[in-house]
Order: sequence, then structure tokens, then C-alpha cells
Amino acid sequence: MAKDELMNYEKALEQFEVVIGLEVHVELNTKTKMFCGCRNEFGDEPNTNVCPICIALPGSLPAVNRRAVESSISIGLALGCEIAPTGRFARKNYFYPDLAKNFQTSQYDEPIAYEGQLEVEVPSGKTFTVLIERAHMEEDAGKLTHVGGNTGRIQGAEYSLVDYNRAGVPLVEIVTKPVYGAGAEAPELAAAYVRSIREIVKALGVSDARMERGNVRCDANVSLRLHGAEKLGTRTETKNVNSLRSIERAVRYEIQRQAAILAKGGTITQETRHWHEDKGATSSGRPKSDADDYRYFPEPDLVPVQPSKELIESLRAALPEQPSVRRKRLQGEWGFSDLEFRDVVNADLLDQIVETVAAGAKPQSARKWWTGELARIANAEEKDAAELAITPAEVAELATLVESGKINDRLAREVLGYVLAGEGSPSSVVAARGLEVVSDDSALLAAIDEALAKQPDVLEKIREGKVQAAGAVIGAVMQAMKGSADAGRVRELILERAAQ
Ligand SMILES: [Zn+2]
Repeated sequence: MAKDELMNYEKALEQFEVVIGLEVHVELNTKTKMFCGCRNEFGDEPNTNVCPICIALPGSLPAVNRRAVESSISIGLALGCEIAPTGRFARKNYFYPDLAKNFQTSQYDEPIAYEGQLEVEVPSGKTFTVLIERAHMEEDAGKLTHVGGNTGRIQGAEYSLVDYNRAGVPLVEIVTKPVYGAGAEAPELAAAYVRSIREIVKALGVSDARMERGNVRCDANVSLRLHGAEKLGTRTETKNVNSLRSIERAVRYEIQRQAAILAKGGTITQETRHWHEDKGATSSGRPKSDADDYRYFPEPDLVPVQPSKELIESLRAALPEQPSVRRKRLQGEWGFSDLEFRDVVNADLLDQIVETVAAGAKPQSARKWWTGELARIANAEEKDAAELAITPAEVAELATLVESGKINDRLAREVLGYVLAGEGSPSSVVAARGLEVVSDDSALLAAIDEALAKQPDVLEKIREGKVQAAGAVIGAVMQAMKGSADAGRVRELILERAAQ
């Protein structure tokens, strides 16, 4: 992969206006596929969930999954879209080994939902309105695994395997209109937009919304034009970016790459690009076809989808609260400051804290654990805190152990290490390793007396009002007890001794 020349980010933004467009594919979690009765299940044995319809044997006939249509309408409504009274499926013709039919059943000029919008807040606190052009139904393709190369890509591979279990899984593709005016915050806006979509489909319960499994994937379009120019620049489309961090990085990279080319008088090739997480760079994919290359035509084997007004209204009535409304409610319930709450959202930890609080932790201690120690460990391991091997219920358990005085902060961090290493729940680690703080006053008093014997003037100083003199004794006791003492209780006992 040739190394691209990049322009300094600030310099690129001085010269060019950034325009982005986002296409998000959401895999629905229906029990069965879009047009047949095969199971829709991640991780099953390859090519076990297939039938004549989803691998398109001659004579097989598809039928639309009612549940998938309802889920698609719910997504459209949650995005403030109009719902089409009649929507047709179309064949998008192209050949690829993961597409047994040689066409993808999709929607073209009659999408189920169109003209919506979504309020998206970026990390700085600024809010942008992203206009939604359409949300349409389609089916996923199969999954190709390229074996033998070291990149997992087709280049350099010895052979490829195809799994058609995913072929025909229902997808909703949500397409924005061009997004202007985000400037330097375009990368953050792209990531925040996808985060909001993920929150919505999760709240609706229509998708598992796990990005690492490809349930939510984003194609990010980026183009640049000179400030004040009318005409949009040529765009590139970075495909299937599947983490929020990668989306942000990929958009930033494309801005810097395109700016360097344009500043030298070069032209941008309209193409798809791939994001390489390891290299932190995009690379050229294939020239991007315009719609007419796909020879779309109406799918003759499927009748148009015509949702009744009653169905649409009942789905509208069942919508969950909007992400922005939910966030305001949670912030109020938890009593977080704007800054505290924004940290949580930007670290993508909202759901973790919801679940940790639901499991019994106080909101502030749930926040401290997730944005503090857990975020630090995750950062060191270069992953998201949510990916760590600890459940919100276990974090709640840890927080409760600290609040009840059973363990102190230092012991809690030690316990956390053992939980992450797979030794079991916090309580079982505490029990198995005997990590409880010593709450037995007689043991503490013995250690205090020993420390006082070495520092005989301390009690006198305390009696003279120099209470801070207790610090040296507390330190000695903590050391003697190997950290398993409650420092607050030690301090109380020292002061009691001084008062005797
Ligand atoms: Zn099937």
C-alpha cells in the first residue's frame, strides 16, 4: 500500500469546506431472513441457514418478512421520516461471489421511508441537524473469508470461503443528505451520528446493534470544495467502517488525503475505499458505480409493500423516546454535570452506566468506575471499556463492596484486576483471596499501638491540635496491614487514643 501524502488537518480546513454523507446499514434482528424462512442467527455453522430462496435456485419465490417491514417503518418513524403508502422492491444487478442471486433485492425509487432528520450532538456540545434522505429495506449478502494472506483481504489470499448464512438477512440502509457546515468537527459528527442511530435501533429493539459483529456498519462519503464554491467536490466512499473510533479516524484521514491532492492541482477519483485500522489509513477499492450501472428494475416476484395507516400509527405510538430526550432524562436522574455527562456519552459508556445503576450502583460511583479505572485499563489495551471482560452487574457489585466498607479503593482496584483476569465476580474474588479490609478494631488497634510506639510524640501533637500529625501513623498502619485497612477508621481510632 503506497503511503498517501496528507495535509495538516488545520491547514486543510482553512483551504477547504468539508462535505460528508453517511450511509448506515442496520442488520435487523428478526427471527428469520428477509425473503425466506431461514434462521437469522449470527455465528451458526457456515452454510447451514440456507434454502433455495436465499441462494436463488431457479423457480424459488421470495416472500417479504412482515416483521422486517414493521422494524423498517419503526426506524423511519424514529428518524422523523415520511412512510411511503406503497413501496416497491427492486433488483440491483451486479455479480459478486457473496451474492448467489447475482442481484441484491433492495429498494430504489420507492423507499419505505424518506425525508427525515436527526439532531446530533458532537463532543464539543454543539448540535447539528442531519437531514435524512431515505431509509430503505434490502437484504445482506453472504460473508467472504479470504484465507492465506496476512491482511484478510482478497489481495494475497490463496483461496476464499463463502458463507451464505448472512445472505438474505434483513437490512435497513439509512442515507443522509449531504451534511454541510461541520468543519473541523466533521469526523466527530460522523461518529456521533452513527452512535445516535445505534442508540435508536437498540431502543427500538429492532437490531442487536453490535458494531463489532457488523450489525451496524457505516459507509462514509467525504468530499472537499474550496470555501465559497458552488459545486460539490468529487467524493470517496469509505466502506463498512465498523467502530465509532474508526469512523472518526477514516473521515479525518480522507480530509487530509484529499486536501493534499487538491492543493497540488490533482483530482480525486470517485471510488470506494477501505479503512485499515492497523495502519490508520484508507486505501483504494473499486471505482464507484453510478446507480445506472446497476440496471435497477422493479422486482417482479414481490408485490409492493403497502402498510396500512393503522399499522403505521400503532408503530408510531410505540416509539421509544428520542436519544436526545433520553439523555436529558438520564442526566437529570443521575444528577451529572454537563461535563460529567458529556464525558460519559463521548466515551460511549451510556448503556454501561444505565445497566450498572440498574444493578444497584449509585450513579456517581458507576460513572467513576467506568470513566476512571475501567477507561484507563481499556485505553492501555487499545479497546473500548465496553469490551472489557466485566459486566455492568459486576461493576455494581464492586462499587457496593466499596460503599459498604468491605473493601477500600486500593483493594477494589486489585479485585478488579482479578475479575478482568477471569477469576469470577468481585465478591467471590474477595472471598477466595481474603481481600476484605480489616474491620476488626482490635487488629487495627494493635497496629496503631505498634506505630505509636515508634512515633511517641504524635499523640501529644494531636492533643495540641495538630491533627495532621496522625497522617504518619495512618501511613504506617496501612503499610503494616498491607493496604487492607479502612484508612478512615484508622484515623478515628488514633484520634480516640489521643483523647484518652
Ligand atoms: Zn433461505
